[in-house]
Amino acid sequence: MIEQLIPAMVEICGQDGVVTDPADLRTYECDGLTSHRAAPGLVVLPRTAEQVAAVVRVCAGAGVPFVARGSGTGLSGGALPRTDGVLIVTSRMRRIIAIDPDSQRAIVEPGVTNLAVSTAARPFGYFYAPDPSSQQVCSVGGNVAENSGGAHCLKHGFTVHHVTGLEIVTPTGELTWLGDGTGAAPGYDLVGAFIGSEGTLGIVTKIIVKLSKIPQMVTCLLAAFETTGAGGVAVSAIIGAGIVPAAIEMMDALSIEAAEAAVACHYPQGAGAVLIVELDGPESDVRRDTAAVRALCEQAGSTEIREAVDPAERAVIWAGRKSAFAAVGRICAAYIVQDGVVPRSALGPVLDEIAKLSAESGIRVANVFHAGDGNLHPLVLYDDSSPEATEAAEELSGAILDLCISYGGSITGEHGVGVDKSRYMPKMFSADDLDTMQLLRCAFDPGGLCNPGKVFPTPRLCGEVPGMRRGPHPLVASGQAEQF
Ligand SMILES: Cc1cc2nc3c(=O)[nH]c(=O)nc-3n(C[C@H](O)[C@H](O)[C@H](O)COP(=O)(O)OP(=O)(O)OC[C@H]3O[C@@H](n4cnc5c(N)ncnc54)[C@H](O)[C@@H]3O)c2cc1C
Repeated sequence: MIEQLIPAMVEICGQDGVVTDPADLRTYECDGLTSHRAAPGLVVLPRTAEQVAAVVRVCAGAGVPFVARGSGTGLSGGALPRTDGVLIVTSRMRRIIAIDPDSQRAIVEPGVTNLAVSTAARPFGYFYAPDPSSQQVCSVGGNVAENSGGAHCLKHGFTVHHVTGLEIVTPTGELTWLGDGTGAAPGYDLVGAFIGSEGTLGIVTKIIVKLSKIPQMVTCLLAAFETTGAGGVAVSAIIGAGIVPAAIEMMDALSIEAAEAAVACHYPQGAGAVLIVELDGPESDVRRDTAAVRALCEQAGSTEIREAVDPAERAVIWAGRKSAFAAVGRICAAYIVQDGVVPRSALGPVLDEIAKLSAESGIRVANVFHAGDGNLHPLVLYDDSSPEATEAAEELSGAILDLCISYGGSITGEHGVGVDKSRYMPKMFSADDLDTMQLLRCAFDPGGLCNPGKVFPTPRLCGEVPGMRRGPHPLVASGQAEQF
């Protein structure tokens, strides 16, 4: 079936915009979640929104599933292709269409990288606030789909707080706008509904983002502690004092060791944990809050505190944190990047319990995370040449998510559900909740062709009537799916 679509796709995207060679298709077989792989049936590389719409119309007409892909840095398998489907890659849609300092807005195409927006806005005195650690590579379209966060989301908010309009191609191939760029359009907040929908409601082809004024002053504190627990006490004290730093990040001893080996960040030797606390804003506020944070860290038992104001010195402090995920690859080739959330007040006990799980299983876990948001990123290290070790790591990783749920947290803070965590959705949401979400999905995608098999635990069909289920789901009854 998929071969029959090739002539139409070539007509739309040009010969060089269609990938059919099996070896080339494998380039796209996974995102950052490399444990899930599937070579796409076909890849297209459109250059315009109209081409995306035409591609989707062909797929919809033929009943062929399609998946959007930005830069493929997602960590939950959201851009995992379908072997029987078309992968629509936005990497050729990289125009920054407008930077408008007067309205503090920029209009960008979905393949533009996150950092490129700030780079383009800087000469006007502005930046784009959401800053995932992958920002040099990841696309704004991917950020919209995942509602991506980053180190500075504690104060500045997530993608959803910085997007005011979206041009999308609906799953039936219609090109339309959601939101008008003001952020105050009347009617349902469809921009809000679309952001974080993980590519299941359509394909973004233009994005209107808010630009933020570059702050007058920025300071960065690096505070060392003997334990992550002591660092956690400092985090609670800072937030409890009513201070909202731009970022509060924590790294434990194992992730510090990895970062040191990778980028020689020279964090204090022998530290059991470090906190990176960045403060930004008007100079007088920043000076006052920096002094207060310093005092609170000292009270929580910090063994050493360094302060950087100069951008180059701040970059050295951040180098360790920003490189941490990749750096862990130097001490162990395979690891799972977990993403869960707990209430900030529970950071200490949850970290203790993760350490206990790690000790009991004999599996090393490095912790590097957005402490201010309670957004944990435990990195579970394992030997992927051993199926038993792989399974044990996955079990431990799942146990960490159970822990997050049991403390009233969430199975994902910013990396999304994708294929990786769909099985955990029923642990957080009732069947009625999931059915209600399905109503929204089906309103956008009645044919169920847009990134199917992601986010939801079972392939519920749009024809099913949501509401109280009578008896087991037909797929459960036939043994094809499992209810957890
Ligand atoms: C080292 C590293 C660090 C990271 N740090 C962070 C972090 O700090 N914070 C954070 O939030 N995430 C982080 N991530 C995760 C990842 O970078 C983000 O989820 C990012 O937004 C994905 O963007 P992408 O362009 O790579 O999207 P992809 O991986 O290509 O796709 C992600 C999802 O978006 C959908 N999608 C892509 N483009 C479109 C489109 N145009 N329209 C509709 N749907 C689309 C895909 O179908 C898929 O479901 C990190 C990843 C890595 C590898």
